Amino acid sequence: MDAQSLKKLREWFKKNSAELPWRPIDLDAPRDPYAVWISETMLQQTQVSTVRDYFTRWMKRFPDIETLAKASEEEVFKYWQGLGYYSRARNILKTANVVRNSTRKATLPDNHKELEALPGIGAYTAGAILSLAYHQREAILDGNLVRIFSRLYALDFLPTESKVALKIYWDYAREIADSSKAYMHNEALMELGRTVCKVKNPDCANCPLHSSCRAALEKRATEFPPSKKHTQKDWHGTVLVIESADHKILAVHGGQKFFKNQFTLPHFESPRSATAGLPSQAERYVDADMVQSVENIGKFRHSITVHKMECDVLYIRLSGKAPAPTSSEIKWVRRGQALDFFASNFCLKALSFLKKN
Ligand code: SF4
Repeated sequence: MDAQSLKKLREWFKKNSAELPWRPIDLDAPRDPYAVWISETMLQQTQVSTVRDYFTRWMKRFPDIETLAKASEEEVFKYWQGLGYYSRARNILKTANVVRNSTRKATLPDNHKELEALPGIGAYTAGAILSLAYHQREAILDGNLVRIFSRLYALDFLPTESKVALKIYWDYAREIADSSKAYMHNEALMELGRTVCKVKNPDCANCPLHSSCRAALEKRATEFPPSKKHTQKDWHGTVLVIESADHKILAVHGGQKFFKNQFTLPHFESPRSATAGLPSQAERYVDADMVQSVENIGKFRHSITVHKMECDVLYIRLSGKAPAPTSSEIKWVRRGQALDFFASNFCLKALSFLKKN
C-alpha cells in the first residue's frame, strides 16, 4: 500500500475510530499488553458489541495478570459465561499463572517466540500484542484484513487455499507492518473491515482506500474474497469466435472441455501468455489459407462447476464464405441469430466483445 493510501487510512481512523473500552483516546499511545491480550482473545469469534461489556466487567474484576492468576477457574468462567469457547478462558488463566511465575513479573513477553509458547496465544494474538501494545513492526492477518487485501488487490483466492496463497496475503500484511505507525495501520484496517469494508454491502463510497482499490474500481467488491464453497480450480483458456465473410459464426458440438452436450463456441485450455497468431486448435475447423485476420478482442471471467475460468476471446475473420460443414458437429450460425443460438452465458460473454468490434 503506498504512502498516500496509508496517510488517508490514518486520517480516516483518527476521525472515525469508535470509542472502545480497550482503545486509548490517544491512538498513538502504547497499550497495556494485558488489555490487548484479553480484548483480542474475547474478540475471537465474538462481535465487538458483545465484547464491550464483557471486557469492562473483566477488567474491573481482573485489572492485571497478578489479580487474574490468583482467581479460581470457577470465577474466571463466571466472567466468561456467555462468550462461549470456554477453552479460551481456561487458557487465559493458565497463561496468567505461567507469566506470574516467570521472571517477567506478571508482564507479557515482547516477542513472538515466548508469546506463542503460552497457552492459547497463537500467531494472530501474538502479532496483535506486539503491534498494538509494544508498537513493534508486526504483521497482523485476521478475517478483516484478508477481506480488505482480497478486494484491494483483486485476489480471487483465499489464503487457506495453498501455501503460496497464504504467503501472498502475509506479504501484503508485512508491507503494512514495515510502515512507520504500523500499529495504527493494523488497527485502522481491522476497524475499516468491521465498519466499512464489510462482508455484505461494503461502503466503498466512504472508504479512504477507494481510489486504490481494484475491486471497487471494477465495481466487483462483493466478489472478493471468494467464498469457501466457491473455491474453484483456476482454468485459463481461449474461446474462438470464428466469423466468415458472409457473417456466420462457427458453433461446434462435442470435443470441447465444457458444454459437451450442446453447441458452443470452440474453446481450449491455453497459457495466460498465449502467443499471437492462429492457434493450431483453430485449424481443426478452418483452413489456415482462409484466415484473413486474428485478433484478441477481450478477456472475461466465468465459473463452471469447480472451474474458475479466465478466457481470452480470439476473433478469427475468414476471407471467404462459411464452408459447408464436414460433420453434424459443426454449424455456421448467422451473426444476427448468434445471441439466441448460443444459450450459455459462457458463449454470450465471449460474443459480447464481438458486438463492440
Ligand atoms: S473501496 Fe470498498 S472494497 Fe475497497 S477496501 Fe474500501 S470498502 Fe473495501
